[in-house]
Amino acid sequence: MNGIRMVETPTAQPPFYLPQADECEIFAAAHGNRLPLLLKGPTGCGKTRFVSHMAARLGRPLYTVACHDDLSAADLIGRYLLKGGETVWVDGPLTRAVREGAICYLDEVVEARKDVTVVLHPLTDDRRILPVDRTGEELAAAPGFMLVASYNPGYQNILKTLKPSTRQRFLAVEFGFPKPEHEVPVVARESGLAEARVQPLVRLANKLRGLKGQDLEEGVSTRLVVYAATLINGGMPVERAVLAAMIEPLTDDEEVRRGLLDLVVAIMG
Ligand code: ADP
Repeated sequence: MNGIRMVETPTAQPPFYLPQADECEIFAAAHGNRLPLLLKGPTGCGKTRFVSHMAARLGRPLYTVACHDDLSAADLIGRYLLKGGETVWVDGPLTRAVREGAICYLDEVVEARKDVTVVLHPLTDDRRILPVDRTGEELAAAPGFMLVASYNPGYQNILKTLKPSTRQRFLAVEFGFPKPEHEVPVVARESGLAEARVQPLVRLANKLRGLKGQDLEEGVSTRLVVYAATLINGGMPVERAVLAAMIEPLTDDEEVRRGLLDLVVAIMG
């Protein structure tokens, strides 16, 4: 089936997530009140981890779909497939989540084709139904079902934006890059590198984020800081790790790259 998807079943120990503010309470309240939730924010700032953590805390299975510009409603709902000479109906991840009362997370929902939003509308109001045209079914979402979507306002262009008629169906929470007092322990925990050695990496990350819009399209993500720290913890020299994890992924422009390297030397010594 088209579209990367991942299924997670709840585990006794939810994956580690350090809250930035009251997002866990908002998520739990949205789930308890059967309301859909939109997570806004840049890539790599913890949205996917947050959803896995909350799904595990609430004891719900999680279906994650990474949306892309070829993803259609049929990829989410399901389709007839030929199996051993027979045509059988196979539920897509959204249909499975609706039937099972699971959480369905549509990552980067604006990337998906337009017909996807049409499917979401009856699911995101108080009807909570999913019409499956191909099979003639109209499924009522099982208790526990929740739709969560994310999008990155930074990537927006006129063609790819959520229409008000869609976004005004969701509660929304804004995610930003974590404050240093949150990011340092997160990176240390994820990489195994001591907090004292993570600190300069986080300082550098924040300087690089300050360049967004001037030289850089997007600030360095927490994910990349975790990568750098992981390499350093494995014994790689700091400068090499920073170049591979926090500079090269950000730019292909030689001049910008050189400028960023100067910044590394100035901050990390
Ligand atoms: P997004 O979905 O926003 O692109 P992810 O959830 O994949 O980002 O986050 C990238 C990585 O950053 C995670 O795998 C995790 O290591 C780390 N991370 C970021 N924020 C947090 C946080 N608040 N708590 C725990 N880990 C975090």
